[in-house]
Amino acid sequence: MNTTSTICGKCHRPLTDPKSVERGFGPDCWASIKAEEAREEKVDHSGAQRSDYDYHIATSGDRRTLVIKDLDKGGMSVTNNIDAILGHICEVEGLDPQGIDIIYRDSDGIYDGVYADKAGAAHIYALSRLSRPRSEGEALEALRQQQAAGNDTPNH
Ligand SMILES: [Zn+2]
Repeated sequence: MNTTSTICGKCHRPLTDPKSVERGFGPDCWASIKAEEAREEKVDHSGAQRSDYDYHIATSGDRRTLVIKDLDKGGMSVTNNIDAILGHICEVEGLDPQGIDIIYRDSDGIYDGVYADKAGAAHIYALSRLSRPRSEGEALEALRQQQAAGNDTPNH
């Protein structure tokens, strides 16, 4: 099949660049098609349904923290499913996982921190070496202290 075209397959404006003619789309339309494809690929976080969890966004000043809670109703633990859950929440809420603070309460009621690496994988870390936060307030306080100490993105 000869796919060369002199008008854009999306917006039907004339194509001038030989590369665009070959693709059949202008650069802007091509970019939006690619972005749409990438978005659709990422939408599949169906694994998140395997866990019972709740979440909300806590706002303190200009800082926003995503708070995820394992409801511990017998499904897969949030700990073991954090990638899918974080991906799903960020998709639904339009959040950048690397641009927001994240904490989560495990099935034992202890809060830990979560951060997403550049590849989008989620990592869990202890919010405090000294205590095990059992309330959202304690967890947020421990998070602030870590950040104040310069441990914004801990490495394991
Ligand atoms: Zn176009």
